[in-house]
Amino acid sequence: MENARQILKNTFGYHDFRHHQADIIQALLDGRDAMVLMPTGGGKSLCYQIPALVRAGVGIVISPLIALMQDQVDALRQLGLQAAFLNSTQDSRTQRATEQALLDGELDLLYIAPERLLTRRMLDLLARTRPALFAVDEAHCVSQWGHDFRKEYQQLSVLQERFPGVPRIALTATADQRTRAEIIEQLKLQQAAVFVNSFDRPNIRYAISEGQNPRERLWRFIEHEHPHDAGIVYCLSRKKVEQVAAWLSGKGRQALPYHAGMPERLRREHQARFLREDGVIIVATIAFGMGIDKPDVRFVAHLNLPKSIEAYYQETGRAGRDGQPANAWMAYSLQDVIMLRQMMSASDAEEQFKRVAHHKLETMLGLCELTSCRRQALLSYFGETPATACGNCDTCLQPPVTWNGTEAAQKALSCVYRTGQRFGVNYVIDVLTGKDDPRIRNNRHDRLSTFAIGKEHGAPEWRNIMRQLIAQAYLDIDPQGHGALLLTEKARPLLRGEIELQLRHQARAVKKTKQKKVKTVAELRACDQPLFEALRTRRLQLAREQGVPPYAIFHDSTLREMATQRPMNEDTLSTISGVGEQKLTRFGRIFIDVIRDHPSSALSKTD
Ligand code: ADP
Ligand code: ZN
Repeated sequence: MENARQILKNTFGYHDFRHHQADIIQALLDGRDAMVLMPTGGGKSLCYQIPALVRAGVGIVISPLIALMQDQVDALRQLGLQAAFLNSTQDSRTQRATEQALLDGELDLLYIAPERLLTRRMLDLLARTRPALFAVDEAHCVSQWGHDFRKEYQQLSVLQERFPGVPRIALTATADQRTRAEIIEQLKLQQAAVFVNSFDRPNIRYAISEGQNPRERLWRFIEHEHPHDAGIVYCLSRKKVEQVAAWLSGKGRQALPYHAGMPERLRREHQARFLREDGVIIVATIAFGMGIDKPDVRFVAHLNLPKSIEAYYQETGRAGRDGQPANAWMAYSLQDVIMLRQMMSASDAEEQFKRVAHHKLETMLGLCELTSCRRQALLSYFGETPATACGNCDTCLQPPVTWNGTEAAQKALSCVYRTGQRFGVNYVIDVLTGKDDPRIRNNRHDRLSTFAIGKEHGAPEWRNIMRQLIAQAYLDIDPQGHGALLLTEKARPLLRGEIELQLRHQARAVKKTKQKKVKTVAELRACDQPLFEALRTRRLQLAREQGVPPYAIFHDSTLREMATQRPMNEDTLSTISGVGEQKLTRFGRIFIDVIRDHPSSALSKTD
């Protein structure tokens, strides 16, 4: 373990282990198996990287994220480690060379795709070497129920059979109880030490914003909170991806589309620019993201509802891996709710699958309409029970105002009933507000008792009310009826006045000055800002020269510490978190020069 601490300090440049890292490493060093649940950005990689270095032989890392391997290996090489990967993207010469290095015992770590590992040839090859350990990353991929299912993962128990004495560690950031059990069973980890960390990502601020015109709202959010930051915007369709990317570009941001319909080459280019340049926004379908390991994504925005809380949590989890403040922002509207409800009833999937999917959408809608802390709700979904509200989500920061909406709901429901449950939400609202409209006259709905009984609210307020009635399943959408609204069983007691209903007031656009801004460049004093920018510029140059992502040189948090501490020699530089021996040797002088060129605040006043 002493050895492990030395490596933490000298190779990685970190002072202390985080969370359960020390215990996990200890377990592997003792030759035990381990299963690790840690949120994104928690520091899972060190848990196998360090023991792989301490133990004799090569650490084998199994990961489905082929696109990521190059960057992971680059980052390790920057630390002076012997790392390599094997996957289908390489030519056979490179593959042979890597295999030879493996046989010659030259590697510390080898990343490998599961389908490759499972080949007879590879298993035989490994049997001729001495694996230090096996790390199964993204272990939730064994689960048939999850959205990342990989059938090869279910065959990984072969490792236990063929390499009984070699410790195995399974890692994931997303696994509910059922998935955990599946991981343990499928990978045969019965004797494993299990480490479960809180899923909480305290640096991420959750906000779900309702109302019309989501794109404008998105822009206000980006402009106000992230004028220069990298972020991801998720959209449902390819077409919308293209439109939103073009629209953001028109606003002066570097915004690049990404979806499965684009040529492979272009997709790769956009992903690479997102990873390698500063401040790029990627606009994408959910095809993007699995395996995006960029630590300084400052925001993730959703222009549509994800189809489950797991998906939402995984997608938003790509923000702020470096632990610095980040935003998870989502736009949500009546249209989304209608679409989701429609999807739920129209799906022709198997009954059991449908029930599960239905339940997932239901909880997602619940999260949107929540009037209490969003983080508490999210965490309790994953089986945690935080005692207090978080203070870092929209409902905590601006508690929504509720009102007794019983009467309004009754009016809306009876209007749906009186018009024959054949019309969509806009029509019903027109009737409620007494709109002078030929369609309404033709249908003689201007003679209904519910015509114009809702004049006390405007159409936007009615949309807000309708949304909540649909989200809370007082109303359903007719799968055959072009969005026609239907009353559900749940509507009866409400119509009969047996229950009361509290509704959320429409969130009013908060005055900009009042809104609490997320401190993006955390706590950096204005006088340190120019140096920080200069350090970033230098880092970008170096990254370009070496063809690696900027964060593989140093993380933002490391540069930030440099900007505030202003180390002028290698000794003091080495005390900064993230500066290990190798990086000190390679980049120390370069960054010290930048710092020297930037006299501290007292002097800079005069220039
Ligand atoms: P995960 O795989 O769990 O999402 P990573 O392993 O990529 O997370 O780690 C997230 C970030 O935290 C990385 O930049 C990593 O270098 C850093 N990190 C990990 N462990 C420590 C530690 N003990 N001290 C400081 N930084 C750490
Ligand atoms: Zn909260």
